[in-house]
Amino acid sequence: MTSFLTDEQRMIAEGVHAFVETELQPHEQLVEKLDAVPDELFAEIKAKAIAAGYYAMNMPAEHGGGGLGARERCVAEMEFGRTSRALAVICNRPAPILKACTGDQIETYLKPTIRGERWECFALTEPGAGSDARAISTRAVRNGNDYIINGTKQFITMAMRADFIIVFAVTGTDETPKGPQKRITAFLVDKAIPGIEVTPLDVVSNRGMKSCIISFSDVRVPARNILGEEGGGFAIAKNWIFSGRVMLAGNCVGLADRAMGIAAQWANTRKAFGQPIGRFQGTAFKLADMAMEIHATRLMVLDGAAKMDAGTITQREASQINLFGSEMVGRVTDNALQIMGGMGITKDMPLERFWRDARVERIWEGTSEIHRDIISKDVLREYPA
Ligand SMILES: Cc1cc2nc3c(=O)[nH]c(=O)nc-3n(C[C@H](O)[C@H](O)[C@H](O)COP(=O)(O)OP(=O)(O)OC[C@H]3O[C@@H](n4cnc5c(N)ncnc54)[C@H](O)[C@@H]3O)c2cc1C
Repeated sequence: MTSFLTDEQRMIAEGVHAFVETELQPHEQLVEKLDAVPDELFAEIKAKAIAAGYYAMNMPAEHGGGGLGARERCVAEMEFGRTSRALAVICNRPAPILKACTGDQIETYLKPTIRGERWECFALTEPGAGSDARAISTRAVRNGNDYIINGTKQFITMAMRADFIIVFAVTGTDETPKGPQKRITAFLVDKAIPGIEVTPLDVVSNRGMKSCIISFSDVRVPARNILGEEGGGFAIAKNWIFSGRVMLAGNCVGLADRAMGIAAQWANTRKAFGQPIGRFQGTAFKLADMAMEIHATRLMVLDGAAKMDAGTITQREASQINLFGSEMVGRVTDNALQIMGGMGITKDMPLERFWRDARVERIWEGTSEIHRDIISKDVLREYPA
């Protein structure tokens, strides 16, 4: 742990660490096997997280959330990263974009979600639009006091569990200095509305969390369910995009640290050629690199979180943290698995799962290439000819 944490931050880290070890990690194998969290277990974990004060820590205290700052949250994220995402997500939520709820939306969506009575998912990506999010083609057409939504979303995490969906749809075209641009609006859409169909996808990372395809066929949504302003969908999403990137790197620290611990114990125990394999430089130096990279990421995450609290974090910084953390966890889990040799690749050991789970970190909160694009453009802007 880092020396400059406050007492409160240290307390959160220790509390979440113990919670993860006792309440979440024991269920990892079951979730992995079933590729699902059984309903009873889900309800039990949620109740325990609420009782312990680890639920909705990121939400405003005035609406019943924990009201924690980014530094406290990232300390918690690092600990939640030490277990399966399918389990951590039961506690560590909801999506911060819901802070944009206004008027009746606060009672209907925000507060019940903070209390754990409702569950959201975030639906931006489509089969034809991922990194290029402005290319989405889901449309919402005004019809009296309602909008009619048609289109398909893809890779929407936890859509099976959600009872409402934050849907991004095109509601018109804006003339801009760069030419015509799609006007994109965010809607709060109850999943029970007729015309919505959810189909789970099978992915190798984070089993039990389930990413899904959602199709919308003439789905009628009241205009009062617009989140933010009509045409302001990207503006509100952007408010929280940095947070997602920094917190993702926090999760990567937790997963990498756990993988390193298992590999180091193995290196001390497993013998080859008459000595523990940790005595071979080829093994020991891998551990040295892991420790150094994990520590560097931890510091980057804490720095990013401090800048989020101060409102000074830049897009480049958030991308640097996300990119460094997601690539770091890929290297660490791969090397940890290598240290375990053949045992690392068996399903009896958690390393192969960590290695699979780490893989998506380089994709889902912006791909490595997109982050390098953001960072390099900013560097080139900084040093003009
Ligand atoms: C498991 C999982 C869960 C997800 N959950 C959600 C969710 O809950 N909600 C949601 O809305 N989305 C979700 N996503 C979608 C995620 O945000 C996208 O996968 C991501 O943005 C990349 O988009 P894509 O998969 O369409 O890849 P593409 O954008 O098609 O990219 C394909 C390749 O092209 C490269 N590429 C694209 N553009 C450039 C460029 N300008 N420069 C260089 N290289 C480029 C990419 O780096 C990548 O290597 C999830 C994805 C996954 C895998």
